[in-house]
Amino acid sequence: PVRVRFAPSPTGPLHAGGVRTALYNYLFARQQGGQMLLRIEDTDQNRYVPGAEAYILEALEWLGITIDEGPQTGGPHAPYRQSERKEMYREYAERLVKEGKAYYAFDTAEDLDAMRKRLEEAKVAAVQYNAITRQEMKNSLTLSAEETQARLESGEPYVIRMKIMPKEDIRFNDLIRGWVVVHSSQIDDKVLLKSDGMPTYHLANIVDDHLMGITHVIRGEEWLPSAPLHVLLYRYLGWESTMPQFAHLPLLLKPDGNGKLSKRDADLGGFPIFPLEWTDPNTGDKARGFREEGYSPEATANFLALLGWNAGTEQEMFNMEQLIEAFSFERVHKAGARFDIQKANWFNQQYLKLQDDASIIEQVKPFFAAKGIAITDEQLVQIVHLLKDRVHFVKEIADESVFLFNAPQEYDQDVVLKKWNEEAVKAISAYKDALSAFEGDFVADNIKSVLSATMEAIGVKMGKVMQALRLAVTGAGAGPDLMVIMEILGKEEVLNRLNNSID
Ligand code: GLU
Repeated sequence: PVRVRFAPSPTGPLHAGGVRTALYNYLFARQQGGQMLLRIEDTDQNRYVPGAEAYILEALEWLGITIDEGPQTGGPHAPYRQSERKEMYREYAERLVKEGKAYYAFDTAEDLDAMRKRLEEAKVAAVQYNAITRQEMKNSLTLSAEETQARLESGEPYVIRMKIMPKEDIRFNDLIRGWVVVHSSQIDDKVLLKSDGMPTYHLANIVDDHLMGITHVIRGEEWLPSAPLHVLLYRYLGWESTMPQFAHLPLLLKPDGNGKLSKRDADLGGFPIFPLEWTDPNTGDKARGFREEGYSPEATANFLALLGWNAGTEQEMFNMEQLIEAFSFERVHKAGARFDIQKANWFNQQYLKLQDDASIIEQVKPFFAAKGIAITDEQLVQIVHLLKDRVHFVKEIADESVFLFNAPQEYDQDVVLKKWNEEAVKAISAYKDALSAFEGDFVADNIKSVLSATMEAIGVKMGKVMQALRLAVTGAGAGPDLMVIMEILGKEEVLNRLNNSID
């Protein structure tokens, strides 16, 4: 059976790219009738951020991504936090040393710095610890067996490094990129076990994927350069025949397409890239979240699913069930996907339209309450019905209807300067008379016909008066459909406001 894992490091809030990775894992697992597990990769104690794991769980739950095995759920391969599996990894690193595929290294930070300097001065292209440079360093390949033993026994700090063999092609078939070939000269002798006894990401990741029976590794493209090393590790550990298949997902790009999406883009652009709001425990800084900004989980999941994948048809709206059915690696793009918040807004609007009015009414109530507006149920029904198709977010329904409850106290002076003139006053006055005489239903279509008939009669172009008319009714130069606003206000209120404006 298919078994996939989402393996975040709890170093901060999950961002859009991480969520998309989780989502694709989930879609594939469900489609294949397989399992998805969550593994917390917390072996880097310096980068550990309290609260990040809880955030990740909450974010996945909000989006509707369910986990079959994980730190909360449990499962046959518990524990699912790497820090709690610490002892397991050493055994594998030491096995590799015994088999001559890895070695102890005693170099201090100064030794490594000196080596780096030396190589840089000699203008060596790749500054790495490898088959050539390791010969000048302090490790169990250059020291005698006795000396190595003595150093280990004296408690001298050491790491275990993987011994990369030179002149070897490492190849694997990525489900998205096809064949990837990397020469071993491009890989250095990566540390597998750190001096604090913790495994590095590489070792822990491979050991766990193997022990947990992972069949497909679906992760971001930033891990593609590590994949050849991982393939080698499977080989060294004798696990090549059950090595998972790899799928490296395209990067998420900044809205302008220049470079990787980052937290800064959200700060500067004012849009969220995190699923939930996040407060940094160290700085107290707040980062915006899709949830708090008013995006629905359905819209967010749909938006993220289409960042780097499409169904090959015109269809864009997919609920989770449909995504599960339609997803395929063949249709995941190789090129980076541009993060376009307008598209997220569009999705939110589409999902808003699909909701029934009753549910939107419940959601919008608190926003009116927050504005101190006492609104009747009858008014809510009318307002939600007329505005829901015109907004992207529930809260905009409240924002955009504030003026309904207060006749304009003042008029936007910019618009006054540009649009308020004799002709406008004449037109508004004529329209007021026409409306007052109009006896049909006071609904948008009708009051619009009255407007065009009146303008034609007095020989004024509609375009010339629309903004002045809006100003007269709402006090502002822009807003939702004016005819709809007038319908909600009702005849009497409209006539009053028109009257006041030309007084
Ligand atoms: N812990 C890694 C991360 O934070 C996991 C990468 C992988 O899926 O192998 O992205």
